[in-house]
Amino acid sequence: MTDPSDADPRFETLAVTHGEQPSHDERAGDVTMPVHLSSTYEVPGIDPDTALEDLDPEDNEYLYSRLANPTRHALEKRLAALEGGDHAMTFASGTSAIVATVTATVEPGDHVVAFDDLYGGTNTMLKELFRDRLDVAVDFVDARDPENVADAVREETELVWMETPTNPLLRLCDIEAIASIAASADARLGVDNTFLSPYFQRPLDLGADVVVHSTTKYLNGHSDSLGGVAVTDDDDLANEIGFLQQVGMGNVLAPFDAFLTLRGLKTLPLRMRQHETNAAEIAAFLDEHDRVETVYYPGLESHPQRDLARRQMDGAGGVLSFELAGDLADVERFVAELEAFELAVSLGGVESLIEHPASMTHSPLSPEERAELGITDSLLRVSAGVEHPRDLIADLDAALEALDRGARRASR
Ligand SMILES: *Cc1c(COP(=O)(O)O)cnc(C)c1O
Repeated sequence: MTDPSDADPRFETLAVTHGEQPSHDERAGDVTMPVHLSSTYEVPGIDPDTALEDLDPEDNEYLYSRLANPTRHALEKRLAALEGGDHAMTFASGTSAIVATVTATVEPGDHVVAFDDLYGGTNTMLKELFRDRLDVAVDFVDARDPENVADAVREETELVWMETPTNPLLRLCDIEAIASIAASADARLGVDNTFLSPYFQRPLDLGADVVVHSTTKYLNGHSDSLGGVAVTDDDDLANEIGFLQQVGMGNVLAPFDAFLTLRGLKTLPLRMRQHETNAAEIAAFLDEHDRVETVYYPGLESHPQRDLARRQMDGAGGVLSFELAGDLADVERFVAELEAFELAVSLGGVESLIEHPASMTHSPLSPEERAELGITDSLLRVSAGVEHPRDLIADLDAALEALDRGARRASR
């Protein structure tokens, strides 16, 4: 991460304070932004000369909460600052941030090029909403090689949609190279940055036009809120996404969730550092274990795109996956033995989770599609929390040991 001069606050400082100026509520002098639940706001008087778009939340001018809400506004300001963009719009979920961003960029007859290894819901959205119902052509390519993206873009391409690292195999794509391919095709590049958060990766700095997150994951970080955000420095795109957020879809993040996410963000750098430490230690432990076949983690020297990881990411993040040496019955037994990891989908919270992609996140895919992506029945994905790493490793060690005991018993 580039180190700003002393004149500009650094990431850790922005994460705690930005957007939350006490001037928003002068009555009590709160140091944190209150949850503004009011759906509507008293205006000073009737003024036919003031247009709706002239009302400025920066000057404490609010009309109606769907359009702008003080708590949501504080969060949007902070998220824009952390991603290095000019505009942020928050939504009721990551999914709604993505559907608004795609809708803002394409229309019937247009073409989208997307990574073939996207979040399952995004993959289904692009196919079953945009392609099948809205007449938008979509090509899925293996974007690990940017040449595949270059070969797929064409005259009608308006959007290139990427995710890096991907779920669950932690594949990477080169944001800078793909941004220049998109730019030369006059298309916009959107990047889902959910897996790393802006603490570890800033796609706008690498040339992306828009970044989205499921704030449900690392940004809120405590598994107690659903939300999403789109951040951009493109004014026209921000207008389009803002229109969809407030009017076209009326899909906004609720004040209480905005408050929780603002609070979560204050510790984003601390949490991300611990998530990474824990994931790296777990990855190193599993990599050495003979009951484990392959470990997928961008922080391991064995990761096939380790050089790209070093170049484009400031840290390897908190998610890893691995193949257990064994069959589905072994996987079931192993997971049942674990105590420090809850068996659950989702990621990015302070507690460690484990999930089985074949039967959970990726069960909507056919067995053939899973095989093509490399998602086997013995693959497990871990979201490392912020607990003490030795406790997590001791738990994994005990569960692997239990598998060995079972195997010895069976062979007697
Ligand atoms: C969870 C997730 C989403 C969807 O976000 P929701 O908040 O569940 O709607 C999109 N992309 C990625 C990478 C995710 O992990």
